[in-house]
Amino acid sequence: MALADPENQLLLERDLQYAFWNNHCVVDAAIGTFIEYGTKDRRKNRESYAEMWRRWIYDDYYRSYLMPLEKYGLKIHHEDVEEAWKRITEKGYVHKTAQFFATGWFANFWRIDPLTEEDFEWFEFKYPGWYNEYGKWWEHYARLSKPNGHKPIAFEDVGYVYPHRCWTCMVPCMIREDTIMDTVDGQVRTYCSKTCHWTDKEVFRGSYQGRETPAMGRLVGLREWETCYHGWELPDVMKDQGYVRPDGKTLIPQPHVIFDDKYMWTLDHLKGIEFQSPNVLLNKMTPEERDAWLVGYKEGFTIK
Ligand SMILES: [Zn+2]
Repeated sequence: MALADPENQLLLERDLQYAFWNNHCVVDAAIGTFIEYGTKDRRKNRESYAEMWRRWIYDDYYRSYLMPLEKYGLKIHHEDVEEAWKRITEKGYVHKTAQFFATGWFANFWRIDPLTEEDFEWFEFKYPGWYNEYGKWWEHYARLSKPNGHKPIAFEDVGYVYPHRCWTCMVPCMIREDTIMDTVDGQVRTYCSKTCHWTDKEVFRGSYQGRETPAMGRLVGLREWETCYHGWELPDVMKDQGYVRPDGKTLIPQPHVIFDDKYMWTLDHLKGIEFQSPNVLLNKMTPEERDAWLVGYKEGFTIK
């Protein structure tokens, strides 16, 4: 058994730590959004994702699997579990992800329709204060969901600022105040959290705290899809992604679920929009510009 040899402890602790955090970042973002925003079941007694998380992750995974490993001398990072819980319940992690997914509807292979009054009521009931932070943005989303002479919401100024991506988990840095910027492997990168920063900078490396770890992978290459399309015209991005229907013009993604041709977005609606990668732009800045940018980024934004 791996735990029987104390030599393994350091690397096991490392693996458990980054695995927990990466799973939290990616799975809670995606599954949380599907469960909370991809449903019409707004019964008040339906468990919210936060309530499910408490059972599935906190009680089950953490308390009945991770914690007992301490008996074998492994250090468990309780603070990461607490922080994940805080991100979901206090820092709006799932709501911010849904907002980001909906902002980038043109880049999704699924559709998020505008929220209704019933949805609003449910969110406010489950997450008091929700409307103040997200309500107005969803009203903009509804208003801009049918093509009517405007651009997709991501390219209209509603006060939302398109986020930078976390180099490690690849979910954007949406909890703005926690964003970390660092130059790693000669590139300026952003991270959503200190654990993601540590994962790239110290874990996926050839050695870890003096131990050789030649089999570890590396977080390298074109990790952000935005970078692949920096400077492209948006209609060309859509064609290159295969996001156009067989008629050659209607987009596969749509910011609503109305099945009526007159409300469908087409390539024509995207003409003249240039797509840019936040990370490429960040790397072009001077160090002083970048420091000033980070201060502003951490302050967040106000929806109009
Ligand atoms: Zn991250």
